[in-house]
Amino acid sequence: MIENNIASVRHRVQLASTNSHRNVDSVLILAVSKTKPAEDIATAYQSGLRDFGENYVQELEAKSAALSDLNICWHFIGPLQSNKTATVASIAHWVHSVDRLKIARRLSDQRPENLEPLNVCIQVNIDREATKSGVMPEDTLALALEIATLPNIKLRGLMVIPSANVPATHTKASFARAAKLLNELKAHPLLQSSPIDTLSMGMSSDLELAIESGSTIVRVGSDLFGARN
Ligand SMILES: *Cc1c(COP(=O)(O)O)cnc(C)c1O
Repeated sequence: MIENNIASVRHRVQLASTNSHRNVDSVLILAVSKTKPAEDIATAYQSGLRDFGENYVQELEAKSAALSDLNICWHFIGPLQSNKTATVASIAHWVHSVDRLKIARRLSDQRPENLEPLNVCIQVNIDREATKSGVMPEDTLALALEIATLPNIKLRGLMVIPSANVPATHTKASFARAAKLLNELKAHPLLQSSPIDTLSMGMSSDLELAIESGSTIVRVGSDLFGARN
């Protein structure tokens, strides 16, 4: 089942890449395994997936320990509180959900010395929703400039979650604004030493639209592992 789902998601990514004249290797499939057991991750790993995303620190801790013999790249994509930054800094390779300087500072300070710098995306509240986390679009550059100075962090780009249940045209416009914002960061003179190359956007229902708009990481949960309870 998971094997078939992976084949189907790979096919969708392939098609969307081709349709937008992009190389399929420019889009990473991040398998979002929140609420799913470690066995499901092991199954997906057997089919060749290497990048897994978790939203809850406790789950990241438990599953990374259970699967420590696999060569998994762990991405933390959920809301992150100060008291959990040390755990995430010691396990994750990527954090997609940084939306304030305090959290970025702690991640940098707490990153163990023997590990590579932590890859970080700034989460942007692209549709300015009261209920969503993320920095406001107009405050993104200032935050990026601060984060770029932190020693144990690599600023890689932006992550967005557009409004749910809106017409595709609306979602597409949100993705386009995110892509424009990323280009502004890439072009900024003070960010030239940051390896900014990542647009984390698109989930099960809208990964094609995201790839058309320049996404480099699609975060896919339910279409790989089945619906969550
Ligand atoms: C759960 C989640 C996903 C995956 O969503 P699906 O619709 O199940 O593909 C992607 N990104 C984030 C931040 C999530 O919390």
